[in-house]
Amino acid sequence: MDIFENPRIKEILDKYRVIWALHHAQGLLSWDTETNMPIKGVEERSIAIAELAGLARRLLLKEDFLKLLDEASQTEDLNIYERGVVRVLNRAVRIYRALPEWLVMEMAKITEEAKVVWRKAKEKDDFNMFKPYLEKIVDLNRKAADYLGYEEHPYDALLDLYEEGFKTRDADKMFDTLEPGLKKIFDKVYGEKLYPSEHELEKVKYDPEDMKKVNLEILNIFGYPKDKARLDISAHPFTIELGINDVRITTRYEGFDFKRSLFSTIHEFGHALYALQVDERFKATPLAGGASLGIHESQSRFWENIIGRSREFTAAVYPILKKYLPFIEKYTSEDLYYYFNTVKPSFIRTEADEVTYNFHILLRYRLEKMMIERSINVSDVPEYWNNMMEDLLGIRPKKYSEGVLQDIHWSMGNIGYFPTYTIGNIISGQIKYHIEREIPDFRDKISKLEFTDIKEYLREKIHRWGSVYKPQDLLQESFKEGMDTRYFIRYLEEKYLS
Ligand code: MG
Repeated sequence: MDIFENPRIKEILDKYRVIWALHHAQGLLSWDTETNMPIKGVEERSIAIAELAGLARRLLLKEDFLKLLDEASQTEDLNIYERGVVRVLNRAVRIYRALPEWLVMEMAKITEEAKVVWRKAKEKDDFNMFKPYLEKIVDLNRKAADYLGYEEHPYDALLDLYEEGFKTRDADKMFDTLEPGLKKIFDKVYGEKLYPSEHELEKVKYDPEDMKKVNLEILNIFGYPKDKARLDISAHPFTIELGINDVRITTRYEGFDFKRSLFSTIHEFGHALYALQVDERFKATPLAGGASLGIHESQSRFWENIIGRSREFTAAVYPILKKYLPFIEKYTSEDLYYYFNTVKPSFIRTEADEVTYNFHILLRYRLEKMMIERSINVSDVPEYWNNMMEDLLGIRPKKYSEGVLQDIHWSMGNIGYFPTYTIGNIISGQIKYHIEREIPDFRDKISKLEFTDIKEYLREKIHRWGSVYKPQDLLQESFKEGMDTRYFIRYLEEKYLS
């Protein structure tokens, strides 16, 4: 059955296909940039990507397309899918129209330079090198917020770009309710050494060829479809969805501390599964993406942490790890479980464990909010960063590279993005709670490496809906409640304190 019946919606979707095709091409170019492109190709590649983006924007803002969209918006008897199409496109149009062309160009230009400068500044540990760029990026983001409009706080407008409908008020509530619970758990686990803070396997070297076999076998066990998906290598693992039947993930092989490669692979698998399980009927339409970055991250964290770092999973894959990584022989599966779950305060967000990870986001969130409301100067950010780090985790960075200069996000112009990581973690805990009610032998299934029912549950509740609903509406539809931090805290308490 065709789910799109309204003639105006059909016409919109017909016209939209070329925009979709441009996004498809952009996606493929971005994937190639990270995986295959010779390094000197970067300049021409940036031009190509920018031109395609400009063309997609012009097509979306064409008079006849806007007129159709306007008529569709006023049509009352649309079904939920058709309403989804209208919502997603109106949102894109609203954002494009609000941001003046000079600002978009200026942002593209400054971030192109800033990415290069940031890399050098990080290497040289020199914040002053990066500072003028960060100042400019904050300023442009604040201007963007003013153009986009907001009711309560300028940061609302930026958050909304990454997590539709999520407000500064919501973020404050999320972090304020999370902080005391996390602190209690961290103090107890770390203070009483309930979990180790380091493990000797973190230093053990592996052969990337062996590790690749492990990753492929794990993906195979999850049912990662070879005819619809790939695994490649990149410095920073990512997922790109070119379509519902063409999804690509990458992983990394540093040659030591194999859990990094393993959990990067599992994390990206979670993102990929989302894309692969979207309703086939949404292909080449505006509904083919996920609901939001936060919902997407809930899927990757669910597979990475709740399944991948569980005792059941560790025991179940222990023989596979032993088969390909000979040094595992002298460790028990219980040893591996603790290796997978070390807990310690650390400077680097991307290396943080489940207990401390959200402190890193909380810190960035509070700093971003202050920068955007112009209550602190960019030159004071490193000092604030270090003070907050000391307050939250009891450690103080001695170098900018392990503090304010560690993340790529600001150099890319992304302010308002970080909170989506914590949203993802919280929702992963919420999904765990609900899935255990629906699938009482959830843990047993993990032990048996049987993932069919788990994948089906995620498909039914989250994946198949693509971007039909706003993120908070999807939670309401599927779980009859909004985002709730208590489930995530409860999950951590059960795992780490009992
Ligand atoms: Mg992710």
